[in-house]
Formats: sequence, C-alpha cells, structure tokens
Amino acid sequence: MFTSLLIANRGEIACRIIGTARRMGLRTVAVYSEADRAARHVALADEGRLVGPAPAAESYLRAEAIIEAALASGTEAIHPGYGFLSENADFAEACAAAGLVFVGPPASAIRAMGSKSEAKAIMEEAGVPLVPGYHGADQDPEVLARAAGEIGFPVLIKASAGGGGKGMRVVETAGDFEAALAAAQREAKASFGDDRVLIEKYLTRPRHIEVQVFADSQGDCVHLFERDCSLQRRHQKVIEEAPAPGISEDFREALTGAAVTAAEAIGYRGAGTVEFIVEGGAFYFMEMNTRLQVEHPVTERITGQDLVEWQLRVAAGEPLPLRQEAIRCRGHAFEARLYAEDPQRDFLPATGRLAHLRLPEGDDHLRVDTGVAEGDEVSVHYDPMIAKVIAWDEDRAAALRRLRGALARTQVVGLTTNLAFLGALAGHPAFAAEELDTGFIPRHRDSLMPVEAPPPDAVLALACLAELERRRAAAEAAARRSADPYSPWFRSDGWRLNVETHNEITFLDGAARIPVTVHYRAGGFLLDLPGGSMAARGALDGEGRLRADLGDRQVTATVVRRGGAFTVFLDGRTYALALDDPWAPGAEEESLGGRLTAPMPGKITRLLVEAGAEVERGAPLLILEAMKMEHTIAAPADGRIEALHYAVGDLVEEGAELLAFEAAEG
Ligand code: ADP
Ligand code: ADP
Ligand code: MG
Repeated sequence: MFTSLLIANRGEIACRIIGTARRMGLRTVAVYSEADRAARHVALADEGRLVGPAPAAESYLRAEAIIEAALASGTEAIHPGYGFLSENADFAEACAAAGLVFVGPPASAIRAMGSKSEAKAIMEEAGVPLVPGYHGADQDPEVLARAAGEIGFPVLIKASAGGGGKGMRVVETAGDFEAALAAAQREAKASFGDDRVLIEKYLTRPRHIEVQVFADSQGDCVHLFERDCSLQRRHQKVIEEAPAPGISEDFREALTGAAVTAAEAIGYRGAGTVEFIVEGGAFYFMEMNTRLQVEHPVTERITGQDLVEWQLRVAAGEPLPLRQEAIRCRGHAFEARLYAEDPQRDFLPATGRLAHLRLPEGDDHLRVDTGVAEGDEVSVHYDPMIAKVIAWDEDRAAALRRLRGALARTQVVGLTTNLAFLGALAGHPAFAAEELDTGFIPRHRDSLMPVEAPPPDAVLALACLAELERRRAAAEAAARRSADPYSPWFRSDGWRLNVETHNEITFLDGAARIPVTVHYRAGGFLLDLPGGSMAARGALDGEGRLRADLGDRQVTATVVRRGGAFTVFLDGRTYALALDDPWAPGAEEESLGGRLTAPMPGKITRLLVEAGAEVERGAPLLILEAMKMEHTIAAPADGRIEALHYAVGDLVEEGAELLAFEAAEG
C-alpha cells in the first residue's frame, strides 16, 4: 500500500475520500482553487496545494497542475473522485507516466466506456442487452432521421460523449426530429467538444437500476448488488436506494450477472457502475460509469463495506477484500441529495451564502456527507450539492422513516434549496408504495411542490417571540449604556406612560400584511393572531433554538433572523416571513431603475448596449445564459446606461448587479 494520497477533487467527495485515507493511515494532500482556500476539504487534509483560479477549467481540471502538486508534495497516488478528471483517460495515462498511481480503472477501460456509442458496440458484442437504437459512426442527419423512424417514436437523442444529462433530447414525432437533433448536437459540442449522437427508443415508464461492480488486477470481478435511481429530475438522480425494491431474485441475478460480464468485457479494474434501464420485466444496458458514483454510500450501508478503501487496496495491487459469496446485503438504504437549486424554477441551480446550516447528526442509522460548513458560499463555479443524507434500517419502510426524520432536522438559510421538495418526495405515499419509475417527479409534480399557504399562527407567534426578545435585549443594552439603568424609558415589557400596554408587530407574507397585536402579561405575552388570541412565552438559547409555550402546546423551534427577514423551522418545515418595518436592519428597498441584477447564476453571452446609451423602457440590454436557457435583461424604464459591470463570457452570481442604470426624470 502507498503511504500518501492526493485527492484531485473538492466538496463532499474530497472530504469523504480523505476520511477513509486518514483511517487507513495515509497522508492526505488536497488541491484547491482560489475560491476554495477556506474550503472544508482543504482543512481536513494534511496538506493543501493551490492549483489555480476559481473556474474549474483553470484549476481542478488542469491535469498538469494536479500532477505537479502531487510530485511537489511527494504523494504516490491520486484519487480523482467523481466528475472533474475522474473519467479522463489522458489524465490516467499522465499519472502513470509521472510514476503516480491513478486510483481508477485502466485508461483503456475509461476510453472504451467514455463514448456511449462505442460502449454499446462493445456490450452488444459481449451479449449484454441494449435498448433498441442506433449507435453507428455515420452521423449524416438523414441517416439519423431514418434510424429514428425505424426505431419508432418517441426516441431519445443522446450525446455519445454525454454525461450529467447534457445533450439529451426526447423527440415525440418525426416532424420534431431535425430541430431536436440540431439542439442536441449544439449542446453536445458546447459541453463535450464532440457533437456525435446516438439514438435510442425512448422508454416511457422505465426504472433506472444500476449495479456496483468491482474488479482487481488478479482477474477477480464481483458485484455489490444494485441501486434504484429512478427518482430523477431532468434525467438526474435525486433520491437513490439500495437494494432495488420489488425485483425477483432471478432478475437480480441476471442483472448483476450482466454487469459483471460488462466489466469483464473491457478488462475492468477498480470501482465501476453499470447503468441499466428497466421496463416490462426486461433490462437494457445504458452506460458504464468508470468511477465512484455519487450514490455509492447506499451500497456501503447495505454491504457494510467502505468502497473507497476497496478502491485504494485494488489500486495498490491487492486482491478484492471479499469474494462474491462473502458479500452480503442487509437492510435498506436511501440517499437524498440536498442541492442549492429551485424546484419551482425547473431546478435551476441557486447560489448564495449558507448563512445558517444545520445538518442532522450521524449515528448507526444515519450518515451525512458534506463538503461545506455554515458561512460557506455556494458559487456558480461548481456543482451546487450541499450534502447527501443517507439513512439505513432493517427494511425499506423503516429506512424511509429515518430519511424523512433526518430531512426534517435539516435547516438551511441563505439560499434556495430542494429541501422541502426532498421532504415531500420522501413523504410521498406513492414512493412509499414503491411506485418507481423515472417519470415519478414530473407525474407527481403538483403534490411535490410546496403549496403557497399563509403561515400558521404558531409560526407567527414564534417570530413574534424572537422579535420581542431582540427588542428586550436591545433595550437592556441601551439601559446598560445609560446613566440611569432603572429609568422606565428603557423598559421593554410594554410599560409606557399613559398608553395601553400593547404593541403591534406586522409581518409580510409575500405581499400580504399580517398585523399581530402583542399584549404584555406577567411572564409572557398574549398575541392577537389571525386565528385568535394565543398566550405565548419562550426562551432563546445560543443556537437560535426557541423553546416556547404556545397556548397549551410546548414546542422547540429555530428562528433565524437576518435583517428584517425571519426563517422559522417548526415541525420539519421551513417558513419565511419578513417584518414590515422600513427601519429593520438590512431591509433594502430596490428602487426602480437603480439596480439591474442577475435573476440567476449564469454567463453573459451578449451585450446589446454600450455605456452611455439612452434606452427606452423594455429595450433588451444584455443576454444571460443559464442552464441551457437564454434570459434577456430589459430596461425597467426609459433612461440611460451609466456603466456595464461585466463583459461577454463573464460568469455572474445570482443577484449580481449587471449594470448601472439611471431612470429618466418624470
Ligand atoms: P451520477 O450518475 O453519479 O450522478 P453524473 O455523471 O451525473 O453521475 O455526475 C457525477 C457528479 O459529478 C455529479 O454530481 C455532477 O454534477 C458532477 N460532475 C459531472 N461532471 C462534472 C465536471 N465536469 N466537473 C465537476 N463535476 C462534475
Ligand atoms: P448520463 O450520462 O447523463 O447519466 P444516461 O444515458 O445514463 O446519461 O441517462 C440518464 C437518464 O436518462 C437515465 O437515468 C434515464 O432516466 C434516462 N434515459 C436514458 N436512456 C433512456 C431511454 N432510452 N428511455 C428512457 N429514458 C432514458
Ligand atoms: Mg448515467
């Protein structure tokens, strides 16, 4: 076994790999970009090496810089994690050429599986079943259109070099084919520098089931059972589980057997995942991912194995730790991916600072993998995953209950996340009933999206208590500074000369104003809320937790306050409220024409005006590209462009001021 390891990645996977390497006694070296100087993965490692500026192309994807960091720090091996350089055959070769161990498969296996078309040709040869389709070299649009017609609509166009759901287009009818092909090719070219595509029959209600395989350099190859990853949005996984529910032992045996055959067909070594699409009792090979998968923890939980340890042992030339017969599956595990993204806006990635972050504590049944800490920034540069929550129990229902509980204890303030959406998924009766196919999320969209409802009285009461507590503390502080701390002017219990002992606090729920009247009572308050009066009293602890008596109910909630905005966490749900107080600290009014900000993180693709230009209301000013979509930023009024803050090609964060605009008078 080597004695040191460089992790050519960031975020949760870098942290996770460091954990195992450390446990095995290896010295760990992290690499980081300028944006990641203070990142958790760097702090966890024994040593960190700067490899370049924030954009991944200039840091984490720079093979030479990473190899140089390994050599300079005296490391013997490199683990690429997933994403970045993990499926880059040239990088694997460059490592070997520099005398470094690449923790992954041979470059030839990466190459063989790197193209979905070539992979399918190899699998066809090996007798692994394929989805009916065309994966030929001839890319003449007419040939492709004819192939689509023969396969029969609907078909799916996929980028051969694809990954991450990019370059994929579903085509319903022959008439739509030409335009869809052009779009898929453009996207493939832009994302992978390769516009070759393949065409598959589009299965309408399939499951995604994949098999974890492992091979060593002694020629042994095993599987570690399967995972069901059918819960997807935009063809990307959201919740994964292992084992796959509701399949027979015969089916499992055929599936895992085909996966091992697939790995053996390409002389595989290390960890790999063979992805199948399953419909009508049949399974078809989709692709093989020649790396550790994001969702590998569910397999670790049901088998009790550490797959990163297996990877390191195999890379060091050791045989597989277990033979096939000794690999057992016990219980059931789920993984939910917590992302900074907005389910309401087609899962558009979000950015921002994690102003408040509470992840559930790990235990025998729960594991939380993360690469961030409270205060960290989720930027446009990298994957917006915040954490993975992994729950295990003896059976599926119990594991799902644990997952729901863990999500209910998760709190994020500062950016938009899919947390409520994950909670709705994990709590969905159809998911509990094992209704599993890749159309689940679109089909149940309405019951999964958070419903707009006024905040419950209990939530208003908690926000009131937090606000009253702040006022009390502020009054106390003022009293301490004053000459006469006993002056009645500093009392915050509602005492006023000649006025009634009550007070108004008004909240904003969106555009609606919700006034609450506060009556001061001995030891607490009586609140006049929309649903009636409620006695309320409570105490805050240092963690922002509020232990409160609300009428005859006692609750523990968390109230996070930022300026005039409150986030209340109660009963596993998150509520956002604002104080209707123009003087609240941090409450900024956006005046018309003052600022023009980016509605989402993206890239400036066109500037349509110059500084100094006079424009009319509605005139297009610039185009921002985000998530395959173009957004035109228009003038909010007649006026003048004072300054442009970005150039074409620049990446911008959500909320970034794009240009300075001066509205015309009158
Ligand atoms: P999986 O099937 O395990 O989800 P994906 O192919 O979707 O695998 O990608 C694995 C992970 O790596 C995802 O979280 C994705 O966002 C991330 N990823 C994919 N490509 C890149 C890349 N070029 N750079 C950084 N991260 C990437
Ligand atoms: P990626 O490299 O982006 O992971 P995959 O080929 O693995 O691409 O496909 C991603 C997802 O797209 C699958 O998990 C599945 O949900 C869907 N998909 C892929 N092929 C088909 C198909 N032929 N019919 C229906 N859905 C498909
Ligand atoms: Mg895939």
